[in-house]
Amino acid sequence: MRLLDELRAGLGRLDDEALRRRRRSNALPCAPRATVDGRELTAFCSNDYLGLAGDPALAAALAEGASRWGAGSGASHLVSGHYAVHDELERALASFVGYDRALYFSTGYMANSGILPALAGRGDAIFADRLNHASLVDGMLLSRATVHRYPHADVAALERMLAGSAAPRKLIVTDAVFSMDGDVAPLAELLALAVRHDAWLVVDDAHGFGVLGPQGRGAVAEAGLDTHPEAWRIVLVGTLGKAAGVAGAFVAGHADVIEWLVQKTRTYIFTTGAPPALAHALLASLRLIEAGEARRQRLQSLIASFRTHTRLQRWRLLPSRTAIQPVLIGDNAEAVAVAGALFDAGLWVPAIRPPTVPAGTARLRVSLTAAHDETDVVRLAETLTRLERAGGGG
Ligand SMILES: *Cc1c(COP(=O)(O)O)cnc(C)c1O
Repeated sequence: MRLLDELRAGLGRLDDEALRRRRRSNALPCAPRATVDGRELTAFCSNDYLGLAGDPALAAALAEGASRWGAGSGASHLVSGHYAVHDELERALASFVGYDRALYFSTGYMANSGILPALAGRGDAIFADRLNHASLVDGMLLSRATVHRYPHADVAALERMLAGSAAPRKLIVTDAVFSMDGDVAPLAELLALAVRHDAWLVVDDAHGFGVLGPQGRGAVAEAGLDTHPEAWRIVLVGTLGKAAGVAGAFVAGHADVIEWLVQKTRTYIFTTGAPPALAHALLASLRLIEAGEARRQRLQSLIASFRTHTRLQRWRLLPSRTAIQPVLIGDNAEAVAVAGALFDAGLWVPAIRPPTVPAGTARLRVSLTAAHDETDVVRLAETLTRLERAGGGG
């Protein structure tokens, strides 16, 4: 039983460091109202930024997709699991974000972990923001390229690393909106560096797609880079399980880039095609996003309200203009205790600990959605302010 004892000891260490994660089962669909263990809560946990995941119109589109296309795809995309509705979705996504072509993936994790090994290999160099999402980190390790991690959003440090590299192929890789910090990458400066050093720029816009930019076209469009003469250097990833409210992801770019990815991306080739019913639902989601200005405005006004009403001294509300509003606490156990005290007050906010964030920067990750209302947000802000004054998680 030595093998099991090792795992038990490992779990005990997670408990000692307040790092054991527990799942909470919600008895209701994704929405600000949740029920966990019979308790009614207001949830600030989801990435459902436009409130589409539980939207009846989208659920109806999914049901319609299932009745038209059945439940499953039956095979991988390159064998026989690719359907007309997948093509239609890819064309709609590409034109929405302003690129030639897009490729639809089952998940963002698979998109990121697959495209980096397809674009770079042994001897090439990947330059990655230190706070990039785990799926990008895993993709770059799988690629076997030489990895240079630059300090968060530090374009001067990145420039020195690029200048010092003689690698034949260079990729700059970044989140567009950082998932645990909520800040937006300096995309225009990163593209300028990519041009100067003849590099690719891979941008993961998981949290900007649907939310930022005109019609929610994302962070690249917001920065005006979709029409940049060197936009072909950008390989844009968007995920479809967050603001889009369904599941999956896409990679958009120059037609030659996408064709290369179809040939070389193992997480695309060696997996069963995503159910075509999801593609049908995503076409409806895309129309809701495009027409979603009222939802985006509501979200912006909730963000402003949360920031106005949260007044902290020891903890810190990080600077963020996005739906991700992190409250930095520092210590793992204190972050867990504060999340517990909020939970007791009927407010469900996740405590985020290492390894998701760097050691010593445990935090609450408040995420706001267009489905919240003003009273939810003010209640959370005031409860946080009161808990801090009362001496933390108590
Ligand atoms: C959520 C997320 C992903 C993964 O997307 P999934 O579709 O959930 O697998 C990738 N990148 C970032 C920045 C994310 O936040």
